[in-house]
Amino acid sequence: MVQINISDLLKSYDKDNITIVTVCSHSALQLFHGAKKEGFKTLGIAVGEERRKIFEAFPLAKPDEFLMVDTYKDILDHTEELKEKNAVVIPHGSFVEYLGADTFLTLDLPTFGNRKVLSWESDRNKERTWLEGAGLTMPKEIKDPHFIESPVIVKYHGAKGGKGFFIAKSYEEFKRRVDKSKTYTIQEFVMGTRYYLHYFYTPIQDQGYTLKKGSLQLLSMDRRDETTIDEVQRLGSIAELEEIGIHPTFVVTGNIPIVMRESLLPKVFSMGERVVEESHKLFGGMIGSFCLETVVTDQLEFKVFEISARIVAGTNPYITGSPYSALIEPELSTGRRIAQEIKYAATKNLLHKILS
Ligand code: AMP
Repeated sequence: MVQINISDLLKSYDKDNITIVTVCSHSALQLFHGAKKEGFKTLGIAVGEERRKIFEAFPLAKPDEFLMVDTYKDILDHTEELKEKNAVVIPHGSFVEYLGADTFLTLDLPTFGNRKVLSWESDRNKERTWLEGAGLTMPKEIKDPHFIESPVIVKYHGAKGGKGFFIAKSYEEFKRRVDKSKTYTIQEFVMGTRYYLHYFYTPIQDQGYTLKKGSLQLLSMDRRDETTIDEVQRLGSIAELEEIGIHPTFVVTGNIPIVMRESLLPKVFSMGERVVEESHKLFGGMIGSFCLETVVTDQLEFKVFEISARIVAGTNPYITGSPYSALIEPELSTGRRIAQEIKYAATKNLLHKILS
């Protein structure tokens, strides 16, 4: 991995004149909206004219300028001109996915967050080491499909948005449906309700819910709307449908706002805290927004099936604030909170602590 020296990169930067940069996709409307509210210049990287047109449709979220490219990889040809604009890149899920994790790691521009987190969240074994090391409960992993005794979910590695995942209730069903040419993980299918918890961790400010170093905020939560699993029951039970060869899929199409019963919040904060503390031990610490993807069982216990260590699209329903962020500051979105962190760090000469 190419080592990016962030302090060197920042040497030539005019810290009073930062441009917030991201790719026009995923949560970019929110990110630009938040950055503009905090007084930043903004630049959107758009792959194709169509993207620009969509962003033109939302004046309050439209970036001040566009960088038009044919492919994501072309971004690499523009790093010098972006540096001249004092660009700080905010990576989101699509940015990392489309650019490719390896290329993203070598991107010679200051990016918000700790890039080291990428290898810990993208490798399912390392992710388990991290989350279980933090004391969180994950769904059980079934190493040998012969031991499938209750419903499991089979996840193909690298499959985005749950594409191709399937539920199996027995070894026979697994065998019938699995695509052996792909690598997969078999997980206990956890029965319960799903909550995707959106946190923000600052290593440079101590206020509110403080940790050993810095502090933690809960900004919002959502539930993903997944086709066809979330609506398939309109046609019949899953068992009935599977008999005629119709299998539910888990492809994310949108996000639904949600709040949680208040008595569960201590667990929510404790999980967030432990994940952050463990990240300090493992790789120098996560920075900024992250999301724990959870199922709450009827015993009111959380099972965490994934972590996403950057802004998630589930924060998009809250561009003008959520029932949680409103109790921190009116109209506070995750995008705006990220901009505030960059602004604060720039004024205190701490940018090297939140960028990598
Ligand atoms: P993932 O790609 O791991 O985020 O999973 C995609 C979707 O599959 C999630 O949003 C959930 O709806 C569902 N899912 C994943 N893991 C589990 C699990 N262990 N138990 C029940 N549902 C799950």
